[in-house]
Amino acid sequence: MMGEFYAPLSSVCGLGDYCYTPAKFIKRSLGLFYLGLATGKDMNEQKMLAIYEDAGALLTGHFILSSGRHSPRYLQSALVLMHPAHSEALGRELAASVSAEDVDVVVAPALGGLIIGHEVARALNKPLVFTERKEGEMSLRRGFSFEKGARVLVVEDVITTGGSVCECIAVVREHGGVPFQVLAVVDRAPDMTERFDVPHRTLLQLTVPSYAPDECPLCREDILPAVKPGSRHPA
Ligand code: ZN
Repeated sequence: MMGEFYAPLSSVCGLGDYCYTPAKFIKRSLGLFYLGLATGKDMNEQKMLAIYEDAGALLTGHFILSSGRHSPRYLQSALVLMHPAHSEALGRELAASVSAEDVDVVVAPALGGLIIGHEVARALNKPLVFTERKEGEMSLRRGFSFEKGARVLVVEDVITTGGSVCECIAVVREHGGVPFQVLAVVDRAPDMTERFDVPHRTLLQLTVPSYAPDECPLCREDILPAVKPGSRHPA
């Protein structure tokens, strides 16, 4: 389904996109990146990568993450989901992995899950509710509720440790719902198992390495300065 839709974008992951980096570094970072792909060989994942790279949501270089750690890759799903055509298509793709009859309601943890959650809910023609943090605690607000025993599909954009999703699942159960499946666009830690006690599926699995600054191999090589994503100048 995504094949035809995204055909024009599949040519965008050529080396031309990395022309600002020295050739040696390009080869090295691409190598690191592809090593980091957990499954990565099927066409859907290749198309997903093209979409992410085309939107500037998956960058190769030398980055300072918000945690302060350094990484050769930067992932920001919001830069893909900001485009309605992408978010709609990704929502349809995720929704295709469940049967609408099995779902009473879709829930997403705010903020990350909101856009993709809405698109999955739209594809299934089911209502969307969301959980949100109040004073750090995940909660159900705004008059949202679950009927007792309601079958609840949990949708998130990016899963790493799975913390927000776990908290969202707990809130659903507290309110009488039955979470039965987690869907997410990207899994950033596919090697981590047992994050949830319900099955989960993702469209793209990526392992993005990160390092403490004093252990960063890219700093040691001293070829490309570390930058904060989105800034045009070295940090
Ligand atoms: Zn570094």
